[in-house]
Order: sequence, then structure tokens, then C-alpha cells
Amino acid sequence: MKILVTGGAGYIGSHTVVELLETDYEVVVIDNLSNSSEEPLRRVEQITGKSVDFIQGNILDGELLDQIFSQDKIDSVIHFAGLKAVGESVQIPLKYYENNISGTVVLCEAMARNGVKNIVFSSSATVYGDPHAVPITENFPTSATNPYGRSKLFIEEILRDIYVSDNDWNIALLRYFNPVGAHKSGRIGEDPNGIPNNLMPFISQVAVGKLPLLSVFGDDYDTHDGTGVRDYIHVVDLSQGHLKAVERLQDNPGIVTYNLGTGKGYSVLEMVEAFKNISGKDVPYKIVERRPGDIASCYADPSYAAKELGWKAERGIDEMMEDAWRWQSQNPQGY
Ligand code: NAD
Ligand code: UDP
Repeated sequence: MKILVTGGAGYIGSHTVVELLETDYEVVVIDNLSNSSEEPLRRVEQITGKSVDFIQGNILDGELLDQIFSQDKIDSVIHFAGLKAVGESVQIPLKYYENNISGTVVLCEAMARNGVKNIVFSSSATVYGDPHAVPITENFPTSATNPYGRSKLFIEEILRDIYVSDNDWNIALLRYFNPVGAHKSGRIGEDPNGIPNNLMPFISQVAVGKLPLLSVFGDDYDTHDGTGVRDYIHVVDLSQGHLKAVERLQDNPGIVTYNLGTGKGYSVLEMVEAFKNISGKDVPYKIVERRPGDIASCYADPSYAAKELGWKAERGIDEMMEDAWRWQSQNPQGY
């Protein structure tokens, strides 16, 4: 079976390509390298001993997509391609709407033209906004507070409309919680541009000496130690969830939505402690103001994915830290 992976050179995409190749799927990657390079895919080939069919291009290019769909018999699309920086999305919303929303529309048009109607979409726990309770189940109300989050919400709605108009489609909306960690080999991992926005790469860059100090955004939240609580999920577990979703599409489920999280929440200070214990490195930090838009607590009820997909996250916090640290210490400058 052949899978088209959009955004396959990125963080989650490259880890998913490894899992796909190791499960004997054939893979075609399209990525415009706007937030990545070809190096992760070279390393994916080294890890798996298999070759990756890579097309450098933009999902906004419908003609290119037609060429891909006509050359290769694609069974399903896993759609990672998108811009993902919340702060940047506030500064340049139209860029986010064009790239993420128009990009998905162009992709789905090309899929429809070529009779490919199975898609797995990278949504996010951000669509739950500020949840009224935790753990979060898939039927919680959705909302968004920034253009990035709105792009995910709109795309979910667009995909629902596509399904209503044509029941031949099979669509899995995967709402990721907080992906962290790296492949066991230490060869691929998260490599953000510039100063990281997310907690985990920030911690590892402080530990490796690239950044002097972690700023902990607020210690007065209504959580057990006052710092924000999130559901961190190992990127390899997350990637394996995509393979389960691709399998699920073969049963013609229509449109389905799954939380991909562990069901456990860790605070910022617990993450720092866990990282220090595993790496043996100090992670100096200071408490600063809350970051605007942040919520106190966000973690999944992952039981629906367990029941329907037979998937659950296997890797605990120590393994997330070990693998994140192996990647960061072996690749201090990233790729
Ligand atoms: P990433 O930036 O590492 O990967 C995205 C890839 O898409 C990049 O390689 C980029 O070059 C490519 N891309 C972007 N626009 C494109 C376009 N128009 N055409 C072709 N390629 C394009 O990000 P990631 O962390 O791997 O995230 C993958 C997906 O998962 C994104 O849609 C993101 O919004 C979503 N997601 C990520 C997180 C997270 O914390 N990392 C959480 C929830 C959801
Ligand atoms: N956080 C922090 N310092 C940082 C980055 C993040 O204290 O430099 C906190 C943030 O306030 C939140 C948690 O770490 O409570 C996870 O933040 P991240 O940006 O990684 O994920 P998201 O907020 O999108 O869940």
C-alpha cells in the first residue's frame, strides 16, 4: 500500500515515515522544506535501509499533486504539511490561512479528481480551547484563540463538509496533545528554527548550553505546583497512531476523530525535574509572567482511540526524556 505523506520532512512526519517504511508501506513525501530540510529524510533512509520517494513541492500546487496521483497509485494521504507557530500566526494570519487552509483545499481537490478519498489529518488539542474540565474527550466543545488554532478548526469543518457531500471519503481527524522525544537512534528529532517556542526543545537547548535559562511561564495556575500541566506524548507513539488510523480507514469508517495523548498530565516543573534526572544536566530556570493565551491544564482521555484503533501510548516520561536528550546531545546544532 502506498501512502502520500505531506510535510514528511518535518518533525512528526519524518518519524511517521520511519514507522511506515518499517511496516512495509511504500511512501511518497511531498514537502516544500519551508520548515525543514532534506537531511531528516536522508537519515530516515539510513535508519530503515529503504529509500524515500521525495518530491520537493508545495501542496498549493494542484498540478504537481495531479502528477503525483497519476504516477503513483496512492491509497491514503497523511497530511502533516502546515505552519504551526502560534505567535507567528497572530502576526501573519493570512499566510497561515493560505498555507494551512487553502493548502488543504487544494490537496483535497486533487485527491477528489484522482479518486483518492482516504485522509489522516494532523489536528491538535488546541481545538479544545480552554477546556472546562480534564481529561478531555473528543466530544468536548471546540474553540480557538489564535489563527493557528482556527486554521485547524476550519480544516476539521471543511473535511466534515467534504464527507457530507460524498460519503466515499474516509477521514481521520487526529487531535495531538504535546509531541516530544525523538527516534531511539538519536538520528532524527525536533529541530525548531531559532529560539524554541515549545517547552521540551527549550529545556534540551538549555541543558546542552545553547540557551542560558528556561523561563517558566507562571507558577500561579490552578495546578498542583502552580505551573502549566500538559499531556506529553512520545513522537514515536504518536507516529504509530497514524499507522493505526490508516488501517482504520480501510474499514470505511466515514469521518472519525481521535485524541492522541497519554492521558497523563505533567507540570512544567515536573518536566524539568524528569529531564535533569535522566540527562544528569542542570536546567536553570526562573519563574516569569504567564504567557498570554496559555491554559492551566490540558490532558487527554485517550480511551476512544484505545477502543477503536487498538492504540495506546507505550512510552513513559523517562523514555521521552532519554530520547529527547540523545537527539539533542548528539546533534547540538540540530540537523
Ligand atoms: P514541522 O514544521 O516540523 O513539519 C511540517 C512540515 O510541513 C515541514 O517540513 C514543512 O516544510 C512542511 N510544509 C509546510 N507547509 C507546506 C506546504 N504548503 N507544502 C508542502 N510542505 C509544507 O511540524 P510538525 O511538528 O511535524 O507538525 C506536523 C503537523 O502536526 C502540523 O500540521 C502541525 O500543525 C500539527 N501539530 C503539531 C504539533 C506539535 O506540537 N508539533 C501539535 C499538534 C499538531
Ligand atoms: N512553557 C514554559 N516555558 C517555555 C515554553 C513553555 O514555561 O519556554 C510552558 C507553557 O506555559 C505550558 C507548557 O510549558 O504550560 C507547554 O508549552 P508548549 O508551548 O510546549 O505547549 P502548548 O502550550 O502548546 O501546550
